[in-house]
Amino acid sequence: VSYIGLEISRDALRGARVSGAGRSIAVYNEPIARMSLQGLVDQLVNAAQAVDGTGNEAARAVGVAIPGIVIGSKRVSMSANLSMLDQVPLADELSRRLGRPALLENDANAAALAEAWQGAGRGGRSVLYMSLGIGIGAGIVMDGHVWSGSNGYAGEIGHLQVEHGGAPCGCGGKGCLETVAGAAGWARRAKNALRSRTSILSPDKLDPQTIVNAARDGDSVATEVVNEVARAIGSTLATAVTLLNLDRVVIGGGAAACPLLLEKVVAEAKERTLPRAFAECSFKLSELNDGAAVLGAARVARVASMFGNGAPGVASDVRR
Ligand SMILES: [Zn+2]
Repeated sequence: VSYIGLEISRDALRGARVSGAGRSIAVYNEPIARMSLQGLVDQLVNAAQAVDGTGNEAARAVGVAIPGIVIGSKRVSMSANLSMLDQVPLADELSRRLGRPALLENDANAAALAEAWQGAGRGGRSVLYMSLGIGIGAGIVMDGHVWSGSNGYAGEIGHLQVEHGGAPCGCGGKGCLETVAGAAGWARRAKNALRSRTSILSPDKLDPQTIVNAARDGDSVATEVVNEVARAIGSTLATAVTLLNLDRVVIGGGAAACPLLLEKVVAEAKERTLPRAFAECSFKLSELNDGAAVLGAARVARVASMFGNGAPGVASDVRR
């Protein structure tokens, strides 16, 4: 028995056929067809067919991880990068064309689900996955179930405020975690420091990976940036752990999610979390990395195969 997981990301369409135990049997990874909605839907169908098996080996259902808010596991209400998907009944369209159930899930939620199932969060009851990138995404899995809130906005940890009167954020707020710990936040802090101090950093290359490497080499400007980012992330996670009694926090999303940052994040969180809650929580780096959302989408497909397309809202329950 197998399931297909697909992931639409900023510039790639990834997919895999995954066994019930979580093993990838076939994979797909191509640049995304951005030209039109029809082109994108065609590519999703092609990707599913490319990884599918034949006869008894055919996948039972399809799950798709999407960079946007997903309503009732069926349609996308808001996607910053792919506005062409807004309000399109994508799950029903894919189900019709592929002849089997299909459901959607937000990409950070799908990654959280995968980490809770097969990754650094496995064994946890209350798992928060945070992804560090251009933006800050997060997904919360409670008792095996994605917690998406009343309207799908739960987990928007990047928009919790960490600096009163801080830099403006894309959401309309000011001083959100994303303005400090998103890639542009790292660059802005480093650039400010470089005005008055010497450093091995160059003002035209201030991505998180470069800054982390410079901090490892002992550069004081880079170290200060990593410390400030870690403080902002650590204090936000402290709030989440205290509020939700999490037992696993998983940090992923690329170069910024490294042991050096994690160590500083944990030290900050320890200072700010209710001590008994902190003692019960482990903080880990992602084990699934780029493969998390596809695997989570396949897990969503597994539920779709049990409940069909007529079961909005149950897509993410890993207990079933
Ligand atoms: Zn914001």
